[in-house]
Amino acid sequence: MMTSATPACHGPLPLYAIGLGSNRRHARHGDPRQVLLAALDALEAADVEPVDVSPIIASDPIGPSRRRYANAVALVASPLSPPEMLERLQAIEAEFGRRSGQRWSARTLDLDILLWSGGAWSDPDVTIPHPALAERAFVLGPLRMIAPEWRHPLTRRSIRQLAARLIRPKPVDRSAEAH
Ligand code: AMP
Repeated sequence: MMTSATPACHGPLPLYAIGLGSNRRHARHGDPRQVLLAALDALEAADVEPVDVSPIIASDPIGPSRRRYANAVALVASPLSPPEMLERLQAIEAEFGRRSGQRWSARTLDLDILLWSGGAWSDPDVTIPHPALAERAFVLGPLRMIAPEWRHPLTRRSIRQLAARLIRPKPVDRSAEAH
């Protein structure tokens, strides 16, 4: 488990947190869990070094699809820039036969850049931190298992804090009752 509050780098290399999700069988690899195991293998490369990986969790479907997801988060060290990393992830998604253009449809494999030790990044193709990071339990749960102290570069809240905020029920607003 990585515990540093500011994971500036892994050795000389920047770190990325990559979210993995699948809710569809793959003809060769098997069920969504096995798709993620194969995707983790595919992610490893001369310039993408695996550092840690969360357990694979099962999560409820989002949107109209009724298939459950397998989700996990991997930490990798890599000199690739965010656009280069996104290109790499999209090449792997394509290899696994993701159907593009259908936002909530069944997905063989979905890969997202969640965090980058370089901090925030924004261009027309890639936004880091991933904009939905703080609202997704299926991302924060696994991420908290491997990088609880990593701080969101914009809000400065740790992953542990973001996960707690998401899970904790909101206090009842009693002000309306006073009138
Ligand atoms: P999605 O359908 O949620 O996988 O979104 C895919 C699109 O989101 C791609 O076209 C990317 O250009 C864009 N995108 C923006 N920021 C990110 C990010 N941090 N990780 C992955 N995709 C991103």
